[in-house]
Amino acid sequence: MTSPVDIVLAVHGGAGAISKDVISDERERDCHAALAAALRLGYAVLAKGGSSLDAVVASVCSLEDCPLFNAGRGSVLTYDARVRMDAAVMEGKDRRAGAVTNIHGVRNPVWLAREVMNSAHVFLTAEGAVEFARSVNAVFESDEYFITPERLLEWQETSASLAKTSVPAAVGTVGAVALDRDGTLAAATSTGGMVLKRWSRVGDSPVIGAGTYADNRSCAVSATGYGEIFLRAVAAHEVSSRVRHLRQDLESAVDVVLLDVQRLGGEGGMIAIDPTGNVAMRFNSEGMYRGYITGKGHLETKIW
Ligand code: ASP
Repeated sequence: MTSPVDIVLAVHGGAGAISKDVISDERERDCHAALAAALRLGYAVLAKGGSSLDAVVASVCSLEDCPLFNAGRGSVLTYDARVRMDAAVMEGKDRRAGAVTNIHGVRNPVWLAREVMNSAHVFLTAEGAVEFARSVNAVFESDEYFITPERLLEWQETSASLAKTSVPAAVGTVGAVALDRDGTLAAATSTGGMVLKRWSRVGDSPVIGAGTYADNRSCAVSATGYGEIFLRAVAAHEVSSRVRHLRQDLESAVDVVLLDVQRLGGEGGMIAIDPTGNVAMRFNSEGMYRGYITGKGHLETKIW
């Protein structure tokens, strides 16, 4: 019999231009509290012997429910002022994965991604994914639930100030990575994408290997940042490949990939966990909402 592994879980609430001068003390406190709550929920799953997959889904659901982040409730608005959400999950033992993109009305996109994982498919999109959500009795919410006054204001200001072709940024994508007692890794990511996105734009978050990846032979990764670049860098899988084939340590692997992302003109960050419980939470942007909790229950959250 193999001895149980020490559990560990990390979460992020997005990376980007999070300026210390702009963010209020109250918002800073609320963000720390939301990250800590998400960590505790996931930890509770792991501590009673639950799977890393259930843990990352629990953590990400709580961040989706929190209006402060760009996922689920509080997602950024599209060009035509709607909410269109993307999410993915993956577990590292059998490399099973599920993802959804451009969905609407579903309260917890990450929950739906796991349902997709448990179906015969890996990736469902838009109306088909919403139809699938109905078939598995997903919880639906109205537009009023998803669209917060802050996001409406942001949409008004951004649409007034932006040339139609530029790609505006967004901060607040959420994600989690975890290691359970069986030594299985899992990753989950959920996002509303970029502010003012149009043409059914999809970023890295729901794309297995780009924004989300888990493999027990290497690591579990959840990314956040300029999705187009993370897609081109196949960032999450690249971290995994470096750990697996080059035997690079987790943090160095993440740093090398982030440097590559930067060279391609991208900003953002990644959280990652390896099978021995090492955690990396790295970013090349001003800040990244992030935190981790160890098997002994030591919890830390940070923004800068
Ligand atoms: N990566 C996300 C996307 O491109 C956005 C983010 O992480 O802020 O959709």
